[in-house]
Amino acid sequence: MISFAEARAKILAEIQPITQTISCQVPQALGRVLATPIQATFNVPNHDNSAMDGYGIRSRDLNRNKETLLMVVADLPAGDKLTEPLKAGQAVRIMTGAPLPDGCDCVVKQEDVRWERDSLVIPTGMTTGQNIRLAGEDIRAGTELFTPGRRLTPADLGLLTSLGLTEISVFEQLKVAVLSTGNELQPPGVPLPSGHVYDSNRPTLIAAVQAMGLATIDLGLARDNLHEIREALRIGSQTANAVISSGGVSVGDYDLVKEVLEEQGNIHFWKVAMKPGKPQAYGRLGNAAFFGLPGNPVSSLAVFLLMVRPALLKMMGAAPEPIRAFKLPLKGDIHKHHERMDFYRGVVHYGPEGPWVTTTGAQGSGILSSMSQANAFIVLPESPVTIKSGELVNVWMIDYA
Ligand code: AMP
Ligand code: MG
Repeated sequence: MISFAEARAKILAEIQPITQTISCQVPQALGRVLATPIQATFNVPNHDNSAMDGYGIRSRDLNRNKETLLMVVADLPAGDKLTEPLKAGQAVRIMTGAPLPDGCDCVVKQEDVRWERDSLVIPTGMTTGQNIRLAGEDIRAGTELFTPGRRLTPADLGLLTSLGLTEISVFEQLKVAVLSTGNELQPPGVPLPSGHVYDSNRPTLIAAVQAMGLATIDLGLARDNLHEIREALRIGSQTANAVISSGGVSVGDYDLVKEVLEEQGNIHFWKVAMKPGKPQAYGRLGNAAFFGLPGNPVSSLAVFLLMVRPALLKMMGAAPEPIRAFKLPLKGDIHKHHERMDFYRGVVHYGPEGPWVTTTGAQGSGILSSMSQANAFIVLPESPVTIKSGELVNVWMIDYA
């Protein structure tokens, strides 16, 4: 047996990030991985401007201990600019986002003023710089905004656009091929003979790959025979950057994926000290990385999330992501007897007293509903443990994206 931590570290160490880049329109770049650093070439905003709808004034015109009367000389909607500087005793009507005229260093909210005949009356207590957004206060010219490896978010696309960028360089999208194996599996849409199950791993894993923003190749369903498995893996290794199979990697008589992979030579077969998901296979198939997941639906998805997803992130050029780990109080008891790390399916609940976690109930590796309910793993150490209700447990949030 190999420990979970060691297996994960070995897989990550062997993965090479993709080097090919392509240029991508910013509006199409959600979830893509940035390939070059991005520097701000100008200040955002590029001019001092008003943060409020109100009146722009010169603070040195203000009386110290009494109201000040000013003359409004112009109206400045956002997008307009006053070329003349403000003179003594003058004010401008100014809207949010409009550039401040020269000399204007204070914006008074429109709720705070009143009118006395044609004069604007400014109350006392106004301060220099109030309600003003300074040039560069969002982004200073020259700042390095993003380093390569950034997976772009909606806010990032906005930021890139506010810098005037329309096209950026991103890493090429990985293609990931997904294969199911097993004589007992049926594709959805046909009646289910007794003793059979629907092939649920394939849509699950394809969706999990797509949730990361990657392209998928559906290698279909291979029966437990050497020819079909060999052929599917051959196609996968020739068309994809990574191949993921489920089933057939343990030690049963029909675990032929293992037999086919053994012919290839450069695959590790591991018994990983984790539950769910003990039998796993990793390595290379030609130019593609290979991930052989166990067949049980919970095991295959859990191993995907815990092992394959970090590897795919590295492969797609993304910066490593920290696991969102917390200690939370457990509601209910857990008794664990075996000597493997256990990833209980858990639900993190939120309430006014703060978050807590429960298990999803029965933890068998065939109970896919547990993965469907879970939003987190409750992570238990290799040694046997008993955890009583109210005690703190390690929780890793589940991230699909
Ligand atoms: P295996 O790892 O091939 O021995 O499969 C272990 C268990 O997982 C068996 O009960 C299989 O029926 C089930 N299984 C394997 N592949 C799939 C799949 N693609 N969809 C649903 N269940 C599967
Ligand atoms: Mg099988």
